[in-house]
Parts: sequence; C-alpha cells; structure tokens
Amino acid sequence: MDQKELQEWESRCIEENPPLCVADCPLHVDARALAGRMAAGDWPGAWQVLLRTMPLPGLLARICDGPCRRRCKRVEAGGAIAVNELERACAAQATPRRPPPPLPAREERVAVVGAGLAGLTAAWELARKGYRVTVQEPGPVLAGELRERFSTLLPTQTVEAELDHLTRLGVRAELKAPVEEEGFLDRCLAESQAVFLSLDVLNPRDWPLERDAGGRPQVPSPVQTTAREGVFGGGLDRPEGPSPVWQAAEGRWAATSIDRYFQGVSLTAGRDKDGPFETRLFTSLEGVEPAPMVTSAGTGGYDDREAAQEAGRCLQCHCLECVKVCPFLERFAAYPKKYTREIYNNLSIVMGAHQANKLINSCSLCGLCEQVCPENFAMQDLCLAARQEMVRRSKMPPSAHEFALLDLDFSLGPDFRLARHQPGHDTSARIFFPGCQLAASAPAQVRRVYDHLRTSLPGGVGLMLACCGAPAEWAGQEEKLTRSLETWQEDWRGLGSPPVILACPSCRAVLGAHLPQVELLDLWEVLAGTGLQVQEPQTGPWAIHDPCSTRPDPRAREAVRALLERAGVELAELRLGGELTECCGYGGLMSTANPDLAGEVVRRRRAQSDLDYLTYCAVCRDRLAAGGKRTVHALDLFFPDETGGDPGPRRNPGWSERRENRARLKAGLKRELWQEEVAEMEPHRRLKLVISPQVGEELEQRRILIEDVQKVIFQAEESGRKLVHPRTGHHLAGFRPYKAMFWVEYSPLEDGFEIHKAYSHRMEVKAGTRP
Ligand code: SF4
Ligand code: SF4
Ligand code: SF4
Repeated sequence: MDQKELQEWESRCIEENPPLCVADCPLHVDARALAGRMAAGDWPGAWQVLLRTMPLPGLLARICDGPCRRRCKRVEAGGAIAVNELERACAAQATPRRPPPPLPAREERVAVVGAGLAGLTAAWELARKGYRVTVQEPGPVLAGELRERFSTLLPTQTVEAELDHLTRLGVRAELKAPVEEEGFLDRCLAESQAVFLSLDVLNPRDWPLERDAGGRPQVPSPVQTTAREGVFGGGLDRPEGPSPVWQAAEGRWAATSIDRYFQGVSLTAGRDKDGPFETRLFTSLEGVEPAPMVTSAGTGGYDDREAAQEAGRCLQCHCLECVKVCPFLERFAAYPKKYTREIYNNLSIVMGAHQANKLINSCSLCGLCEQVCPENFAMQDLCLAARQEMVRRSKMPPSAHEFALLDLDFSLGPDFRLARHQPGHDTSARIFFPGCQLAASAPAQVRRVYDHLRTSLPGGVGLMLACCGAPAEWAGQEEKLTRSLETWQEDWRGLGSPPVILACPSCRAVLGAHLPQVELLDLWEVLAGTGLQVQEPQTGPWAIHDPCSTRPDPRAREAVRALLERAGVELAELRLGGELTECCGYGGLMSTANPDLAGEVVRRRRAQSDLDYLTYCAVCRDRLAAGGKRTVHALDLFFPDETGGDPGPRRNPGWSERRENRARLKAGLKRELWQEEVAEMEPHRRLKLVISPQVGEELEQRRILIEDVQKVIFQAEESGRKLVHPRTGHHLAGFRPYKAMFWVEYSPLEDGFEIHKAYSHRMEVKAGTRP
C-alpha cells in the first residue's frame, strides 16, 4: 500500500468528520464534547472545551445566539439541543480559568478600531498569536455597546474580568479615540502595520469598504479585506440581524488574514472550513426515542440538573455503524480510519508488530461492515490485501493460520481427495462437491445426500471430495490458493467439466470468484427439483442463520428458504439476517488467528434470539452448537440419521474427529460404492491411545491432533529417543512433523499408551545463532 492508496482508504471512513453542530457553528465550538462533559457533571471539563475553541468565552458563552441549532441532528427527534443555553449554564457554573499564555512576542503592531465583539475577538486572537495590539475605542469605556446590548446577561464584573484577560495577553487600550478625525486611519497605519475595523460599533459609511451593486458596504468573508491594503474589517449586521457569534467569527477570520498578511502568504488558500461547512458525518437515528428540549423552571437559565438533563439529550453524533455490528472492530477499540493507518504503518514501517498482525488477521472478511457503512468501506478488502502483502514479504507469522492451512493440505491429500463418476457410469451429467467441512462435520449425511442425488437425477452424478481453497484465500496465501484451484480443476476436468452441485456457501464464494468457467449449482435449488420432503414433522419455528458468505447471494438465501417453507418448516428471521447476517467466527480464519474473539462472536450471535437456530453451513452449525446454541443444519431435517431422532443435539466433532470423519468417508465410499481396495493405515495411526476427557479438552484447545500425538509416540518408541521421569515413570518425547514441535508426556500400557499431557510450540533454535 502506498501513501496515495492509504489516503484513498482513509478518506472513505467519515467517522472523524465533525458533527453537524460543530460544522455549522461559525466558530466551530465543540458542542458535542461540551454536552458530553456536562451530561457527566464535569463542569471544569466543559469549560476547557469552550476555552479551546471560543474566543472571550466568559462573554461569548453568555450571549451566544446558537446558530448551530439550525442543523443539530436532534431536530429530527424532539428538537435541537439548546447548545447556547448549555454554554450559558457552563459559564455560570464553571470557575473561570485564565486562557493559555500567548505565543512568543512578535514585532508587528495591529490597531483595532472599536471595541465591539468583532474588534475584541480580533484583539484576543492576534494577542494570542504574539502580535502587539492596541484597541482604539471611541467611547469612554471598552465594550460599551456590548454592556448596553446585553445588560441582563453580562454583569459589569463579568465584562471587566474578561477585559482583564485581554490586558494580561498584552492588549493595550486607548479610550475616546478620535476616530472621526480626518487622517485617523492614516495615523493608525503609520503606527501599526495593519488595522482592524470593528464594524459592529463603527459607522460603515466612514471607512474605505468595498460596496455591492446597490452601494451597500461589503466585507468578504473569511478574508475580511477592505478597499485599502492593510485594513481589515468585520462585524457588519447579517441579513437576519446582528449575531454575536458571527461578529466574533469575523474578528477571528480577520486575525487569521492579518497573520497571513504579515507572513506574506495567500489570504484565501485552504480556508473553505473557516466558516460553516458541509460535513459528511452520518449519524443513525435508529433506536433514538424523541425527547423534547428541557425547559428551565427559573428565569436565569438552566441550573446544574436541568443543564445535565438537556446535555443528556445530545446524541453524541458519530457514525460507527460498522463498529456497532462487528465485534472485531469493537474489540480493537477504534474504527476503520484509524485501523487503516495502523495497517499502513505495519506494512510500510514496522512490519510484524504483534498488535497490528493480530488486527490484520482477526477480521472474518465477512463484509458486513461494507454493507452497513454509508460510504461502503470494505474492511475485508483492506485486511485481505494486508495479509497478501505480509505473505509475499514473508512477514506473516506462521502461528496465524498454520493449523487451517495444514487442514487444507489434508483435504487435498490422499486421505480425502477423490474424484469418481457415479458407479456404473463413465460420464457425469453433474458432480456433487460437498466441501471439506460438511464431510468433516457430518460424513454420513454427505453419503445420504449423494445417495439421494445419484438416485434422483439422470445422467450420472459424479463425486468430488477436496477443499475449495478457502483457507488459503483467507490466509492471503495467493500461491497456495492457485495450487488448490489447479488441483480442484484437474479433478473436475478429469470428470468431463460438468456442472457442479455445491453444498457449502463458502465453496460457492471461492469457486465462483476464481473459476467463472465452472457452472455452479446450488444444492438447495437442485434438491427442490427432486421433490424432497422433510422426513419427520419438526418442532419450530427455527431462527434462520444465514452464513456470511451468502450476504451477496440472495438467490442462495431464497432457495433454502423456499425449500424449507415448502416442506412445512416454520422459520423466523434474525434481526441481523439476510444481507446483514453475521459471521460465526470461522470466516477469514478468525477462529484460528484469534480464538477468543471468535468465541465472543458466537456468544453475541447466540444471544440474538431465544429460538433454536437453523443454518445451511456445516461450520456455522458446529460453531453455534459448540457455543451452546441448539442449532441444526437444514440437511439434518431432510436427511436425518437412521434413528430419525431429534437432530438438535448432534455431537460437535473435535479437530481430530473432523479429519477422521473425512478419511473414513472416503474409505467407506471407495469400498462400498466403487468396490475399490482401501490403502492400509500408516503404522503410527494404529497406536491405541487412552485420553481422559480433561486431556482431550486440552488437546482441542491447543489444536493438537490425535495423529500428531501418535506420530510423537511412534517415533519415540521406534528410536528410543525419550526421557523417563525417575519418580513418576512418565515418558516425555518430542517430534516436529512440520513447523510446530510437539511434546507428549505418556505412559505405556499393555496394549496402548495413556496420555498425560501434550503441548506444542514454534520455537526454532538455528545452528550457529546466539541468543
Ligand atoms: S461505517 Fe465505519 S467505516 Fe463506514 S464511515 Fe462509519 S465508522 Fe467509517
Ligand atoms: S445531537 Fe449533539 S452532537 Fe449531534 S448535532 Fe446536536 S448537539 Fe451536535
Ligand atoms: S469484514 Fe466482517 S469481521 Fe471484518 S471488519 Fe467487516 S464486519 Fe468486521
């Protein structure tokens, strides 16, 4: 990923755009943060928020006219937040603090003519930038017009305290300035390098301003220039009347222009967000109850309690639509814009940071974020691209996906891979490809479905057993994926390249994306054409869990529903179902890279309904069932086992059993359908092991297969390379069948071995390396 791509990705997430209130306020006061602090009763924190963005906060917070309310998101649910009333309450409650000290002093002088709100604000901003400011006030006191206009809101001591802050910033004042005398402006320009005219208290006719076609004086915002160089102005009445916030804002913009004027840089460049602007932030109102504005019982504005109550109505506008629905995004405590930068840094700067690797590898690539995001940000594309780049540069830690990739190798190896025409046929009109995980979970069911297909459909139904390559795709292993797909195509071509009936939605997603030349048929549509019925009446209704790989595939979702409903099975929809369905935690190899998070995903999914679940993906079925949710696969209803009993409690096979199931399925089919010889079991697999349930559970959690344990003991017993504990008599042996090293503690029995403990690690001590 290069800088340009990074920026493109980042710009698509709008979470850091300001809320409507901030964008619409001419001063961009952070009303969201202010309300947040006030709702929590944090008055000093609220005052700090004002101090950060509001000039002369002791004055302005009391007289703000609240232009931001016009577009507050709360307007759509009860009425805008009374931000200006909150500011007032904040100014009344908070102990005023001194503004931060100014920047280092500068040489340039500025004369501010008139101590109106625009002039005082310009003085405040310029003094904070370090300029030498003198206010030339024609009246006998500073801020005379303000004191008069807001006599009830601005007590004398409040005005004096704020003027005192200006003095501390180094602002000098000259009262009764002869502003109407001829040559006054020339004298100001002789003594100062720039002048600001506070047109809220000066008569615009007396000054060199631009005029519009009707002769009305104009000061263009936000540059605030006049007809004379070095002279700036602001504070003219707006068409709707005088607005304190606009007057202050024009004083601030003029201060920015004067600063740029002194520095000789453009007055206009990059100033499109000085005033109100359009924000792209999206905020959903889903679940927001309408609530009217809090009214004050007294006449002096909100008291503490009322202010906190009104502040509590603020929606704290954010987007975070993706974070609301995705436990992965929630777990890493940020949002895609931030994750993009983290991923970029990991790829281009510190490749291999543990936290960033975890982030990149924990996404289930399910695509729900893209579905709910108003800007269609596809976190799955970003994470997958990052994985591919890490693999290409050999920076992907093997621990992230190795277990799943070895399982893929197993499915493409001699124990499972199979391609045959239907017995008695030498061509196939179609092929049934159940996928590796249905075979791992419910091998007898694969057999029953195949029996049904080959006896119901004409022309011969061939069978292919293998893996579609999904684990390689999810792990970012492009070469391995290519090899898997080549293997798959080799078998498919060997059977005459007919249409392929798929039972697994992930197979459909992977094969559909990479092999457009293959005609893929949906098992559910095919079964519908065979007049299939549910074998036994089932209790219901079932809440249907759509596998995440069917999100972009409405046809598959509809096909399974149609078949089930026609068979009389009652279904209920989950809140997050259909195109908004959630992943079970297996997709994208989340459960391999971050098992803890994958467990949380199942817990959340399980809690979405009290009904039992029905799904049509073998892994979803097994993961939800293992997570304590009674869940059936749709095939459990159409192809129940011989007992015909309740399919809900079907056992969830462990990792070892999943391999064993595949190997037995292939061996059984070869023997019974094609009358072929089955190869002898390798010698290590004939070792008999005694494993307590507790040790068995540990093996599952550590993803250690029974076969790995058998390999360790077999080579230890053959070679004699093992340790014997002098006290317990337990044997300890280690062996590295592939990248991981396995250790097993065991005791020989008369006809087998009892396993006490097993663990694995990936530490490799290379010859010649020093710690
Ligand atoms: S949904 Fe997520 S990715 Fe999209 S804009 Fe909102 S926070 Fe950003
Ligand atoms: S609800 Fe709160 S954050 Fe949202 S626009 Fe209104 S004041 Fe701002
Ligand atoms: S692809 Fe799925 S798991 Fe990944 S961020 Fe999006 S919603 Fe979350």
